[in-house]
Amino acid sequence: MDIKKYFEGKLAALHAESDFPFARHTTIGTGGTAALALSPASSEETVALVKTLKGQKIPYCHLGVGANVLPADGYFEGAVIRTDRLRTLEAEGTEIFCGAGVTAGSLLSFAKKRGIGGLEFLAGIPASLGGAAVMNAGVKGKHLSDVVLSVLAVEGDRIYEFPAKDCGFSEKTSIFQSGMTVVGVRLKGHPVLPSEIEERENVYRAKRAHLPKGRSMGCVFVNPEGHFAGKLIEECGCKGLSVGKAFVSTEHANFIINGGATSREIAALIRLVKTTVFERTGILLREEIRYIP
Ligand SMILES: Cc1cc2nc3c(=O)[nH]c(=O)nc-3n(C[C@H](O)[C@H](O)[C@H](O)COP(=O)(O)OP(=O)(O)OC[C@H]3O[C@@H](n4cnc5c(N)ncnc54)[C@H](O)[C@@H]3O)c2cc1C
Repeated sequence: MDIKKYFEGKLAALHAESDFPFARHTTIGTGGTAALALSPASSEETVALVKTLKGQKIPYCHLGVGANVLPADGYFEGAVIRTDRLRTLEAEGTEIFCGAGVTAGSLLSFAKKRGIGGLEFLAGIPASLGGAAVMNAGVKGKHLSDVVLSVLAVEGDRIYEFPAKDCGFSEKTSIFQSGMTVVGVRLKGHPVLPSEIEERENVYRAKRAHLPKGRSMGCVFVNPEGHFAGKLIEECGCKGLSVGKAFVSTEHANFIINGGATSREIAALIRLVKTTVFERTGILLREEIRYIP
């Protein structure tokens, strides 16, 4: 089916962008082109969109701020569901409802103004709240799952509210990686003075100062039980290893830096690191990053 033709005139309100370049919308800055990107502005529009895509058997994938994805090279004859217009932010007491497209930075400013603390660990993490829920984003000792009350996601032709205990949160994963569309997240904070929130955020930001500069997806691999992926990769001699213009960061071995590479080269480097670590240690690293579409 000609996807662009199908959507022509039908879903103009979805801020459709044709020939959507993944490289411009991801932190790694690689990848090909999708036929269409569609940005619903409400939960209802998202349900209708998912229903249409499924009904027409149009392949699709999701994109938040694109900080943890490796998009395929080439042409994707399908649709990207973007969450950039799902921006609702509401507070009731110390509970906050965030649309999936709210960024971690906007959430933190909103919470700080209202004296709602407990979310400071998100400071400096490039994320939409939808992406953060899917990935259970966080830092050592603190993850989104610690502050989630529930996640709203499209399944079938309606929206379900999944209480935190049913979200399958674990190390950098959740049930939402199965392809459901997250439209919003309810979070719980607690009362904290804005000045104290600011201080805590600064502490978290300072800890990130050592992270490698350059285009990356953040940590490529999940830390295996009892190990740090970066340390294992370094001990296996992979620091600086390269395929084409992609290389393992010399500062932090769990980062791959794009120095002008293709996604294919980055994927090949990921495989090479996995194989090397497995052959030397018997430990099979699991990717944290997601391959799209
Ligand atoms: C420099 C750098 C530092 C980082 N530091 C950290 C860190 O300290 N801690 C950490 O946890 N992560 C970190 N990351 C990774 C990234 O910030 C997180 O994983 C973040 O949660 C990704 O959010 P996103 O909006 O970019 O999601 P995306 O990368 O856009 O998407 C991630 C996955 O979720 C899916 N997805 C996105 N939105 C939705 C939705 N609404 N519904 C369904 N599926 C969806 C995508 O299809 C993809 O599979 C870092 C990344 C970078 C580049």
